[in-house]
Amino acid sequence: MKAKKIFNRMSLFIRPTWGVHPGNVKTIYEQVIEPIISYGAGIWHPALDNTYVRERLLSLQRSFAVKIIQGFRTISTAASITLAGLTPLPDKVSAVADIEKSKLLGVSSFLPGDVPIESFCPPSELPHPTERGGIEFTEVSSATDLAQMAAENTWFIYTDGSKHDDRVGAAFVLQHSAGNRTTARKKFKLHDCCSVYQAELLAIREACAYSLQNLRTATKVIIISDCKSALLELQNACSRNRFAVSIQKSISQARSVGIAVELAWIKAHVGFSGNEEADEAAKSAANLHKALDHGSIPISHIKLLNKQKCIKASEQLYSKTANCAYTKNLLPTYDNVIEYLKHVTPNFAITQFLTGHGYTKQYLHRFKISATDTCPCDGTTIQNFQHLLQDCPRFAIPRYNHTTLSHSYNLDPYNLLNVITKESTLNSFHNLITHIVKELKNFNKT
Ligand SMILES: [Zn+2]
Repeated sequence: MKAKKIFNRMSLFIRPTWGVHPGNVKTIYEQVIEPIISYGAGIWHPALDNTYVRERLLSLQRSFAVKIIQGFRTISTAASITLAGLTPLPDKVSAVADIEKSKLLGVSSFLPGDVPIESFCPPSELPHPTERGGIEFTEVSSATDLAQMAAENTWFIYTDGSKHDDRVGAAFVLQHSAGNRTTARKKFKLHDCCSVYQAELLAIREACAYSLQNLRTATKVIIISDCKSALLELQNACSRNRFAVSIQKSISQARSVGIAVELAWIKAHVGFSGNEEADEAAKSAANLHKALDHGSIPISHIKLLNKQKCIKASEQLYSKTANCAYTKNLLPTYDNVIEYLKHVTPNFAITQFLTGHGYTKQYLHRFKISATDTCPCDGTTIQNFQHLLQDCPRFAIPRYNHTTLSHSYNLDPYNLLNVITKESTLNSFHNLITHIVKELKNFNKT
């Protein structure tokens, strides 16, 4: 595979810098290495079914993960990748492939073939460049401002979109400048996987279509939305969003037949009765039992599903792998690891403690570097991190400081998930570990 050749050369090239900037390795990995590997994933992803390819990818990722956590080279793949906070590379690549495919072909492995994905408007369907134009909007903060925008015989159309409990709806309500009473209300239902952004744009599109059809005698129509991102999309003359293209088309069409359609932005829930009504109507539209007015799923939803799949893969790598039992003893579940990593960035000392791969006699003996696995303090107890942290008399004083502090908060001084709940105990715990790791080499020489 070409990607792997590049990767191999890349890792040779990057290796000398690891020692200099260990903190930057994660950034380099995520910003440079992963994109190189995932390049063209949409084409070569079937190779991921091959166990050999998966294992090669994982082992390449492991070498980076070990550098990120500044760990020993003997640390297992699962432990190093998890502690480095990375997604297993084969799963990351397959997510990139799925998103690429969804964008290009409109199919995703998550969706049945008959559920379409929202695609960009192809150039052939865009209006001629001379006819393309962004639509500006006015920011309106009060009813007086709005009244000033109005001319004689003006219609206000308040639009809104809503997503609650995975139900998506859109609506608009129509009011005349004389009277400010709602005279029409239209509701639309979208697929449960659609976004609220799509709903906001759908409401505006339908408001435009309604104006063209039913408000031909009006001099002015002001469409009022509380969604600034949707209005900014409409301002963009080069937008390829299907809703935006269609709205821009119908607004210029309306203007050409003498209806001055204008867009206005208001803050949500600041006392415009029309906005409140549109909000209510959109919420109730979401729960309607009717045919869908829009069923194309946005790419953001496919990204979300892929992200969830990656989290699941990370979880499985940690829980299903037998050889990171040591770490699992300290942090039993993947969620525990994530919680822990929110507070701690593993470094040279902490990683030794978290993996058991460090300068303890037990480890050195296991790899035949030391003749014995016992601690010099008594010559009989096995020297591992548990002994060093909790029992070894050599470290009694720093241990006393940490245990006293933890007990003052009623925390178990050696339970990681307990210790991270207070910043001071977390610090004292890490000071203790750092102290032990620093002193260990000298101590073991005695
Ligand atoms: Zn000892």
